Amino acid sequence: MLVLSVISLLTLTGRLFHLQILRYRHYAEKARKKCLLLEVVTPRRGSITDRNRLPIAYDATTYDLAVVPARFDRLLRLVLRLRAIGVPNPEKVFSLTAQTNRVVVLCPISERRLPYILRAPLSDGSLFTLQRGKTVLLAATPELLSETRKMLVVVAELTGQNPKKLMSRYTKIRQKIITCKNGYERRHLMGSPYVLAERIGRFVAMRVEAEGWRLPGVCVVERKRRRYAGEAFGTLTGYLRLINADEAKELRAQGRIISRGYNSPSTYERIASADCYFWDERVGAFRLEAALERRLRGRKGVRLLERDIEEGGYCVLSEVKAKAGENVRLNIDADLQKVAYEALKKRGFRGAVVLVDPNSGAILAMASYPSFDPAKIKAPKYYKEIMKRGGLIERCGGACYPPGSTVKPLVAAAALAEHIITPQTTVTCRGYYRSRKAFRCWIYPNAHGPLNVTSAIERSCNVFFFEVAERLGGEKLAKWLARFGLGEKPADIPWSKRGFLPSPSNTHPWYRGYGRLVAIGQGQLLASPLQIARAMCAIATGKLPLLRLFDETPPQSRPLGIPESVLDVVRDGMRLVVESRHGTAHKTGLSAFYAAAKTGTAEVSKKRHLNHAWIAGFAPYDAPKVVFVVLVEKVRGHGGQVAGPVAEEVLKAFFGERKRAER
Ligand SMILES: [Zn+2]
Repeated sequence: MLVLSVISLLTLTGRLFHLQILRYRHYAEKARKKCLLLEVVTPRRGSITDRNRLPIAYDATTYDLAVVPARFDRLLRLVLRLRAIGVPNPEKVFSLTAQTNRVVVLCPISERRLPYILRAPLSDGSLFTLQRGKTVLLAATPELLSETRKMLVVVAELTGQNPKKLMSRYTKIRQKIITCKNGYERRHLMGSPYVLAERIGRFVAMRVEAEGWRLPGVCVVERKRRRYAGEAFGTLTGYLRLINADEAKELRAQGRIISRGYNSPSTYERIASADCYFWDERVGAFRLEAALERRLRGRKGVRLLERDIEEGGYCVLSEVKAKAGENVRLNIDADLQKVAYEALKKRGFRGAVVLVDPNSGAILAMASYPSFDPAKIKAPKYYKEIMKRGGLIERCGGACYPPGSTVKPLVAAAALAEHIITPQTTVTCRGYYRSRKAFRCWIYPNAHGPLNVTSAIERSCNVFFFEVAERLGGEKLAKWLARFGLGEKPADIPWSKRGFLPSPSNTHPWYRGYGRLVAIGQGQLLASPLQIARAMCAIATGKLPLLRLFDETPPQSRPLGIPESVLDVVRDGMRLVVESRHGTAHKTGLSAFYAAAKTGTAEVSKKRHLNHAWIAGFAPYDAPKVVFVVLVEKVRGHGGQVAGPVAEEVLKAFFGERKRAER
């Protein structure tokens, strides 16, 4: 046993001696020629599409033309070798190139060094020696000296670039390599693609690859750039920006941030075990790009390569495959979204337009003005301009407003369902309620006279709803408004706000007058346009759906618990808003679409006569196919006048589309 151990120990020692001492030179040489490289593969970021799979945000592939100096520039290799053996100023070789078509003497050289200089890829006879007396001189053919230049001319021809410009770009990397003190970094620069021309186009890229045989070291690098469908979608998609300092700090603490071009094996391990970011990587900022960051980005892959410095080839030692980002499909109709956005933009209206399919809860459009073009936001000037005009607000779900009279149909339904009033109950409007100061009807000093619930909705009489609120009481009023989804998240949208539904249980102290204000959509009541759209869906169909921006969200709804007979009374009132001579939206063209609607005018500033102008409703009233909400911030004028024409334009587009689709 002992003998056996001794023998094996001796064998092992012998082998080690052989490897480490005798064959040292051989292996050291081999290791020097090879170089381990990490290649990080960043996957395509998933795209965001509309309901018809039209891209709204997507990665487009562009092609850059690059050169790998180690293979492309034999002259540079020569210079580096000459410098390594101590030849002074070897860089002057570059300036010799254009001079002559004869053999050029480069420098005296010791014969002992020759094999090192004449190794591949310079062993093809383009370098040779001349004997002059006792000195040996190194000389080169003019072909070698002009080789790089000639290749750059071919590259310029293929890509349609200016050859001088390419040369000056290339000279920069040459200079960087020559002045690089760190051997490891220099080898890396020599072996990595350096981009000479950006966005060369697919066709040119194909030509370059086809011509590859006469252009050693020239390659095409694929790059991905984020593209967007434009301004109409800016507030919805958001944009990409560089990782900020706080995020970098957090990622660093988690060991999830990596540097480019840093090839340590620990980087490989990190990418293999966690989702890593580069320091200079772009991440989703704002809205969908931010909310879906995790899903859209996919996960990086990594390959450990062994690259042969001499030959330029490589082999893959190990690999973790990249995972592509997921694609996300929205229920948005891109064409409708554009129409809705333009309708606001051309009038200069700050505000929101929402279109929803009331039967499925699918959000067909949610436009918000002002918006921004995500593709341009990288420019600091553009960004500043946007910030100045407040363009980064998503007004459909991310902002809340007093909803004004658009809540009156909900209050009417509540009162009817609670049997506090019947469809025949009348209230007489004298222009104010109890006090002339605080609770006026909007047409004060005139008066509406006696009204039932239908005509109170039609004419938007405040006094009628003050009376109803008084009879209902704050608690019940809040209970019924909550059934219509006020005070809760209306949609599957991460940033959608809850708004505020005041009730005696969440507002202290609670004064009796608060209920009256809630009943006309003022006071502390706040709702987003999406919430109002959802409530309109409930009136239209009798069920409260979850609004769905994402195609993947299954349709879901809850019963409203209000009899159809009650809803019919409310729908009649909303129908009259559009149809009747007294209706607050009768001058708009909404009757052409058999729409039922309610206008709203929420006072913002009495002094400057500024209001939030609303119109909300559905069409056609007997078989609702679409719910619409238009909000215009801080304008002069009333809901019907201001928001009505916007709604008309959007409905025209909606029903126009539908007709085309049915054909
Ligand atoms: Zn009135």
